Amino acid sequence: MKKKIKIGILGAGISGLSIGKLLTEDFEVELLDKSPVFGGIAKTKSIEGISYHKTGGHCFNSKYPDVLDFVFQHIMPSSEWHKVTRDAAIRFKDNEISYPIEFAVKQISSFDNELAINIVKDFLNAKDDGTYENLEDWFRKKFGNTLTEEYFLPYNRKIWNRDPKEMDPSWVKDKLPIPDVKSFFQSLIGVSEDKMPHSEFYYPNSNNQNTFIDNLASGLNIKQNVDVKSIYFNKDDNKWIVNGIYSYDKLISTLPLNELPTFISNCPKDVIHAAKKLKYNKVSTMLWETKPTKKTWTYLPDSNTIFHRYIHIGNFFAPKMNYTITETIGERSYEEMETYGKKDPFLIRPLDYHVSNHAYVVFDDNYKVNKEIIFDYLNSIGIYSIGRFGEWEYYNMDVCIKRAIDLKEEIFNNINI
Ligand SMILES: Cc1cc2nc3c(=O)[nH]c(=O)nc-3n(C[C@H](O)[C@H](O)[C@H](O)COP(=O)(O)OP(=O)(O)OC[C@H]3O[C@@H](n4cnc5c(N)ncnc54)[C@H](O)[C@@H]3O)c2cc1C
Repeated sequence: MKKKIKIGILGAGISGLSIGKLLTEDFEVELLDKSPVFGGIAKTKSIEGISYHKTGGHCFNSKYPDVLDFVFQHIMPSSEWHKVTRDAAIRFKDNEISYPIEFAVKQISSFDNELAINIVKDFLNAKDDGTYENLEDWFRKKFGNTLTEEYFLPYNRKIWNRDPKEMDPSWVKDKLPIPDVKSFFQSLIGVSEDKMPHSEFYYPNSNNQNTFIDNLASGLNIKQNVDVKSIYFNKDDNKWIVNGIYSYDKLISTLPLNELPTFISNCPKDVIHAAKKLKYNKVSTMLWETKPTKKTWTYLPDSNTIFHRYIHIGNFFAPKMNYTITETIGERSYEEMETYGKKDPFLIRPLDYHVSNHAYVVFDDNYKVNKEIIFDYLNSIGIYSIGRFGEWEYYNMDVCIKRAIDLKEEIFNNINI
């Protein structure tokens, strides 16, 4: 009976593939994607045998048991993954210190004792009353003024390409490690335990994330090179019609929320207006052959380089190799990336370069209101929207999978067969 219901899924990134996989046994499922390859922003490209994460380096882990179960029991067994321990660094005032910075104050004292003392003093004086005016205020109340001004503000200005004062702080929950006073003091005397998000993660034994994506996509009916431009509900037979030719009983979108309403026939003006106000950042990346490092990634808060992060992708592989992806926000030219890269003797040779479209959702002051307007409308017409840009949230792959698992349950509850 359910097999008679045809579900259309717009977008075949991690979100679309996950919900497709979860529904395909019970329903007739079809995915449409404008790209010639599936996998969305998590997809890699092979360059000289190295998997280049064009939209920035990725690793997988999850705090959700049902996500781990789905991935390791149903998509790719845990024996086909190896574990990597996070060993992240921050290049801070020309010194390499460990991440997170609030546990590296002892290291900072070795090159700037006064700064280290101010960090401790301000951290202990920070008054967190649980109310935050904006992202800058959130950093000040959590970490104190010195850490905020020396590290969090410069880094966040780079990665968001805007002033943290103009940003909503609510997205940051669970995204950043927040030290309590006890662990902060333990780190000062050298007893620090790293139990922060992603302190360990998984990478495929093939040394290529595409193996996971290919497994996720296997058996699915995916139509590539279909650029969705129009969505219409035909009341005569209760079908959703996409691009005038594809017909579905139910529609799930993972397309960017700033674009989806513009494709829907007769979408109210205030919804289109809200969609147009949503902001996002692109990311430009370059793959490099490098000197050896033991680190998994390095943050670069300083303004002397355009890069905000190096992902040492070669250290995700087993055995390890000397390759790094440099990331910078916005559209940068090959020449600019190469010029900045060549200033750093660690980076030896550029291998490839890419500029993404959607990479980071920007949480400006109005994003919640605009999201609500769009979701009220989508709910009223019965289109489901999930995913990083489908929900306009800072989702990692595992949260995209979690949202797909939750949506499957919702669909099963709504379709009583
Ligand atoms: C720099 C960076 C680093 C990251 N690192 C990690 C990490 O280490 N670990 C982790 O778990 N996650 C990481 N993420 C997040 C992860 O990439 C995302 O959560 C996930 O890939 C999003 O999947 P999605 O399917 O929701 O969106 P997308 O991957 O964007 O998929 C949307 C799909 O829709 C298609 N599409 C768009 N418009 C149309 C249209 N009009 N018609 C048809 N198709 C269309 C696109 O081609 C795409 O395939 C990172 C993200 C970035 C940007």
